[in-house]
Amino acid sequence: MVCNMSIAEKERSYIFNTYNRLAGITPYFVKGEGVYLWDDKGKKYLDFLAGLAVNSLGHCYPSVVKAISDQAEKLLHTSNLYYTEPQVTLAQMLVESGAGEKVFFANSGAEANEAAIKLARKHARLKGRENSFTIITALNSFHGRTMATLTATGQKKYQIHFTPTLPGFKYAPFNNLDAFAKMIDETTCAIMVEPLQGEGGVYVAESSFLTGLRELCDRHNLLLIFDEVQCGLGRTGTLFAWQHFGVKPDIITLAKALGGGLPIGAMLARGKAAKAFAPGDHASTFGGNPVTCAAAIAVLREISKPAFLAEVKEKGAQLERGFMALKEKYPAFVKEVRGLG
Ligand code: PLP
Repeated sequence: MVCNMSIAEKERSYIFNTYNRLAGITPYFVKGEGVYLWDDKGKKYLDFLAGLAVNSLGHCYPSVVKAISDQAEKLLHTSNLYYTEPQVTLAQMLVESGAGEKVFFANSGAEANEAAIKLARKHARLKGRENSFTIITALNSFHGRTMATLTATGQKKYQIHFTPTLPGFKYAPFNNLDAFAKMIDETTCAIMVEPLQGEGGVYVAESSFLTGLRELCDRHNLLLIFDEVQCGLGRTGTLFAWQHFGVKPDIITLAKALGGGLPIGAMLARGKAAKAFAPGDHASTFGGNPVTCAAAIAVLREISKPAFLAEVKEKGAQLERGFMALKEKYPAFVKEVRGLG
């Protein structure tokens, strides 16, 4: 406990107080393996959190650890002025998995979304629509904490201390196609939603809503952006959440689970949007780093296996059955069971 306290005290002294850590009771973790964590006293915990939607393969998955250490011994970093093999291999794997035609690598979900926002604006400009820069997002959505993604996030509570937010974002209620349709005007360049809202409270999109958004985008020449930072990469039992609905976005963003614990984000686009960026339009010093890409290759190999995805579906169904039974038994406590996979 002395050690715990001193870590907590040091944290308070040296780190910005942006996280509500469970002060006093937070164990201080030193080791992770599979679904377990160990604290500094050797006590074992079953980890129900799995990072914030990051550790999809559990802690320290052997092939991911090996890929990281093999790559770390060879090359940690070069600038993006040079080619590196893990970056290109990962890009090829993502493209071949059906996510899109071209990839931009970033270091987080927010950065992947920043890239998507910039790409949507550039795409409209290339089509001669200089004044089309507005992106319609959903109320209750979450897209990140940078100024653009904070503005894209349809929740006032995250924006309140940081106004003015950026121009060019409008919000409509999730799953309300008419409301989205009514917001479209000549300034609109894209619609951006999570197929399954995560931070907003686990709300699954209705199939007709996503199909309707696709039709609206096609009719009005807009890009459809799916933020799959949290719901993508196998978490719902398909590699991408959009596969449940058969609605393919023009731009998809990924992060969280991709690096198996290392920071990586990716923005993929297809069609005309895949051709919209030119040299100098966007960049990232660390995006596509060889070590994080090596980790992501190992992750993607595992999570794209049909047997892995089938297991996610099975476990999802098992959890749902369990939660429904709890709801029946304790209706005063369990009001609703929501989710996918
Ligand atoms: N988009 C979604 C759907 C998220 O859930 C999150 C984080 O929770 C983000 C974007 C931001 O990702 P990051 O924290 O990696 O910037």
